[in-house]
Amino acid sequence: MIDPVVETRPWDEQLALDDARYREQLAYVLGRSALYREKLGFADAREAGGLDEIARLPLTEKHELRASVTPGNPFGSHLCATRGEIVRIYSTSGTTGTPSYIPLTAGDLDNWVTGSASSYAASGVAAGQRIVSSYNAGPFVAGAALGSFDRIGLAHIPVGTGHTDRLLSAIELLLPAAAVLTPSYAAYLIEAAAERGLDLRASSVERVLVAGEPGGGEPGFRELLEEGWGAKVTEAMGIGDIGVSLWGECEEQHGMHLGARGFVHAELIDPETGSALEPADGVTGELVLTHLAHRAAPLLRFRTRDHVRLWTSPCACGRTAPRVRCIGRTDDMLIVRGVNVFPSAVREVVGTFAPAVSGNILLRPAGDGVKQEPPLPVSVELARGTNGDDALAEAIHDRLRSRLVVQTRVELVPWGSLRRSEYKSKLVERR
Ligand SMILES: [Zn+2]
Repeated sequence: MIDPVVETRPWDEQLALDDARYREQLAYVLGRSALYREKLGFADAREAGGLDEIARLPLTEKHELRASVTPGNPFGSHLCATRGEIVRIYSTSGTTGTPSYIPLTAGDLDNWVTGSASSYAASGVAAGQRIVSSYNAGPFVAGAALGSFDRIGLAHIPVGTGHTDRLLSAIELLLPAAAVLTPSYAAYLIEAAAERGLDLRASSVERVLVAGEPGGGEPGFRELLEEGWGAKVTEAMGIGDIGVSLWGECEEQHGMHLGARGFVHAELIDPETGSALEPADGVTGELVLTHLAHRAAPLLRFRTRDHVRLWTSPCACGRTAPRVRCIGRTDDMLIVRGVNVFPSAVREVVGTFAPAVSGNILLRPAGDGVKQEPPLPVSVELARGTNGDDALAEAIHDRLRSRLVVQTRVELVPWGSLRRSEYKSKLVERR
């Protein structure tokens, strides 16, 4: 642990500390943010009460932030810091629209690195080890996560995105103990290494740290990665507007702990009604996050669009922070005759048919938009050197129906016919 005193502090004590920070954050925001003064409809933070009453505040949606952007204020009217206080400006990758800008003060950046270091250290990587990374530090918030490797004391080998030969050479020659990448790229590298006559299972890499998209926590997909790398796989998760690698999974591999404890407050809501859900083991809902100590552009009750499962019970690792596992993102979700279907959940079910399948899938919805009529077409890629038959397709169809309550039309496709990704996988293709 980076800071055992903080990370093992009883959670009710953490909430008491967070309550004081929340009240301060609220007063700061009301004093400086035009967006929140208007949204909350009061100017005195005492009117909001404490953290236990946070559900009284309205939720904040990404589109509200975008709508408040003007030529004079490219950040949005939740901006609180002055020009001189801002030391870093990241862009979101714009996968769900036009890029937006994320400003940070020096203190914000330091808090991001502190939280990210707790999250990544939870995986078991430790000072003195080497870690190879495949994230582009450039314009995106993921770059700030790389600073956490210095904080942990790792010897960092940055390779960047899309340099497969260089990455495999770095692993062969520099003998890193860990690799950090997207789960899609981790899967791609197993095949790419095999094509070059390399066996990653024989490499120095003992830990594969995945982040950037859901999937690293799906049991079937994780097993595929762990077998292919001969390494332990743990995942991390953040969201650009709030912070990088806010969550990091420990060696127990049972969900990601909140590494950014003290900096961020997490809630779950029912995504349909927006009402707050009582935190307990196994509860699923949409993750809503509130900054507790942010200065540049703090957010209150920000809807992340990430659907997660929560655990609050004690973890064997000793960390007391709650844990989550991402089930999928609202942005990818399809609704098939009233049933919510996450592409990553389909991949998880299909993955249970390994070694008959490769683990790659593609949903090919026939209609435009989110709502689809059954059956939902799903292409399932077979494992290398195998031939599928109708019985396999039927078994996959039946398991998808029983686990996800969705009617599909399963088409088996030969190994190598679905596109691999060196960054994030596209699991849905529109005709
Ligand atoms: Zn743990």
